Amino acid sequence: MGSRQDALLADAGLARGPDGDLLLEGVPLRTLAHHVGTPTYVYAAGRIAAQYRALDAALAGVPHTLCYAVKANSNLSVLRLLAGLGAGADIVSGGELERALAAGIPAGRIVFSGVGKSRQELRQAVLAGIGQVNVESIEELRLLGEVAGALGRRASVGLRVNPDVTAETHPYIATGTRGIKFGIPADQVLGACRLVAASPYLTLTGIAVHLGSQLLSVRPYLEALERLLGMLPAVQEASGGTVHAIGLGGGIGIRYTGDEPVVAPEAFAAAIVPAVRAAGMHLHLEPGRCLVGSAGVLLTEVLYRKHAGGRDFLIVDAGMNDLVRPSHYQAHHEIVPVARPRPETLVVDVVGPICETGDFLALERELPAVEAGELLAILGAGAYGFTMSSQYNTRGRAAEVLVTDGGWRVCRPRESAEEIMAPEQALLDDGVIAP
Ligand SMILES: *Cc1c(COP(=O)(O)O)cnc(C)c1O
Repeated sequence: MGSRQDALLADAGLARGPDGDLLLEGVPLRTLAHHVGTPTYVYAAGRIAAQYRALDAALAGVPHTLCYAVKANSNLSVLRLLAGLGAGADIVSGGELERALAAGIPAGRIVFSGVGKSRQELRQAVLAGIGQVNVESIEELRLLGEVAGALGRRASVGLRVNPDVTAETHPYIATGTRGIKFGIPADQVLGACRLVAASPYLTLTGIAVHLGSQLLSVRPYLEALERLLGMLPAVQEASGGTVHAIGLGGGIGIRYTGDEPVVAPEAFAAAIVPAVRAAGMHLHLEPGRCLVGSAGVLLTEVLYRKHAGGRDFLIVDAGMNDLVRPSHYQAHHEIVPVARPRPETLVVDVVGPICETGDFLALERELPAVEAGELLAILGAGAYGFTMSSQYNTRGRAAEVLVTDGGWRVCRPRESAEEIMAPEQALLDDGVIAP
């Protein structure tokens, strides 16, 4: 278990101090739990910056924009950090547009993705003057033209093409296959180009794909790139030669177990850059998980140990409302004790306090023995952790902490029940609702 876990600890910016306790970029996780409580998400700013810089540097051979996929981790402090490094943003809602702008990401570096943008969201995007709206259907294209026309503003359009490339990942996060809801089918692309060309308010600036998430090979990217470049001459002809960007989406995977053959930025760049450069295109990437996923841990406390029905349970204070990936995607998150691991081990189900049998963080996991009151760090929780969390069971969402340069600060306080209830309580107090 040792060396496999060492790689994961290093990816997270974690190391054991002289007393055996886990330090995140030098800050003891125990100190954070003491001051902020648990469950708490902790992010390592140094690791996020290192991931961003590595990808950016690897792509130096081609003009490119890294549009960080905000949905992976949308904390404003994380967005501000990435904005400072030069990142753009890939957004999927009007709310994320507001976040990206609030964090200081320039509108011109924002790409708007998603199959179901509302009229209001399209309006918001056109008014903000974002870099590109990646349109996913002919109907959306028509609506965008109408919205831009009504505002008397021009909008830059990208076509998100469904490349019919199957990526090997969990079916819920494979998004580039034919017969799923994402992207414009290849046989409708030229029609879409002509529609854009015919609109006085729209300009086609890019064609793009997004293949899915947690991809562990460059093969699907190469296949998709080949398809996009193959359709480019016809696209240019149909649109009047205005396309200058190729988007390859996000999806670069991270290590969750330590055994995955992850795609290094250099290997990714070596495979992709030559063809994009030869085509004279600007490369758009929308990395989410690979920038922030490994750089975050979820800190939780063991509440009880329980033996029932022939199984051993660790009941912890983080539940599926805090981290839904294990129950939603059957995802594996490595779990390590914050204190120096004991040599003896337990095989346990690590479960939360939520009233659902599906509320687990790990099943039949061999862990170093721990007792009630001890702290655990759940690794790989920096992406799709907090952002997918909920208030189910009227549990306030976890606190978030950003560790920077050996210091730390709360970047989102823990939610209280009072805050959750406030909008409803106000209505009760107003007497709007009958007693
Ligand atoms: C979610 C998403 C991404 C980010 O995917 P990761 O796997 O986190 O890199 C990028 N582009 C689009 C369109 C997305 O929906």
